[in-house]
Amino acid sequence: MSPRTFPRPNHPGSIRLVLHYQPKVFADNGHVEGAEALVRWRHPVHGTIGPDEFVPLCEISDIIHPLTLWVLNHALADCHNWQKTAYGIGVSVNVSVRNMLDNQFPDAVMKLLGRHRMPPSSLTLEITESALMEDPKRAKQNIDRLHLAGVKVSIDDFGTGYSSLSYLKHLSVEELKIDRGFVADMPADEKDAVIVHSTIELAHGLGLKVTAEGVETASLTQRLRSMGCDQMQGYHIARPMPYEQLRAWLANWAGLAEDGVPGEYMGRASV
Ligand code: C2E
Ligand code: MG
Ligand code: MG
Repeated sequence: MSPRTFPRPNHPGSIRLVLHYQPKVFADNGHVEGAEALVRWRHPVHGTIGPDEFVPLCEISDIIHPLTLWVLNHALADCHNWQKTAYGIGVSVNVSVRNMLDNQFPDAVMKLLGRHRMPPSSLTLEITESALMEDPKRAKQNIDRLHLAGVKVSIDDFGTGYSSLSYLKHLSVEELKIDRGFVADMPADEKDAVIVHSTIELAHGLGLKVTAEGVETASLTQRLRSMGCDQMQGYHIARPMPYEQLRAWLANWAGLAEDGVPGEYMGRASV
């Protein structure tokens, strides 16, 4: 989709933002579970600027609120479109600690879901483990409200923060995403492989799904699958891409799925 302006079209000082989407697939059969929205800034002089360069600046002020709502609004609109045209997959959106500590945030999310006539279960909100720990009690209250409404919550970059297991036990979250640092280093460092394996077992013990981030090679897909990892995301499967490209990728991947190819790709002989 062409860049869309933030905060709104024709507003002086607006900037051009675009969403890219990265698919997340099931480890056992390669079918697509959903896609994660990742924001980029199309700068007239500097070209495309990644989120690591501007989202942290937004996060230290209240500008993160309209930015997150902008991303949610466009991601839900795109998800509505791809669901209409046969791909019944959900969308994940990254949210910041300020969003999760804002008591009005759950209502704002529900309002946007209503505007796009999307079931709450289509949406997953990703929040990093370290963000959660800034005010665990308040974050939990808002996570509970979103969970009760049917929205899924995922802990992003798991393993890089300092959440306690007793806190995790009480959180209404559906998914842990293992940080790509651990996943990428597995072939070279057996300790990282132990961390990944133990995290998968811990998450399953708590009734959570596990997604491995940063899966860059076929051998990693096989190893993760043998460890019981549920879902995978990474350059080996697909890089983040614009909306139109995602639609083409989904069509191609679905065609491969008919022949069982993604299953093989994910480290299994046949689906
Ligand atoms: P994240 O949510 O953990 O997203 C994963 C990041 O890893 C993305 O970088 C993605 O492009 C990259 N990645 C995915 N697979 C691979 C791989 O196989 N190898 C490598 N080396 N990298 C991979 P990106 O798009 O630059 O986003 C960076 C971070 O910025 C995100 O980390 C997320 O925390 C934040 N972010 C992105 N979009 C948003 C947004 O709309 N709102 C907020 N609050 N944060 C966002
Ligand atoms: Mg994320
Ligand atoms: Mg992550």
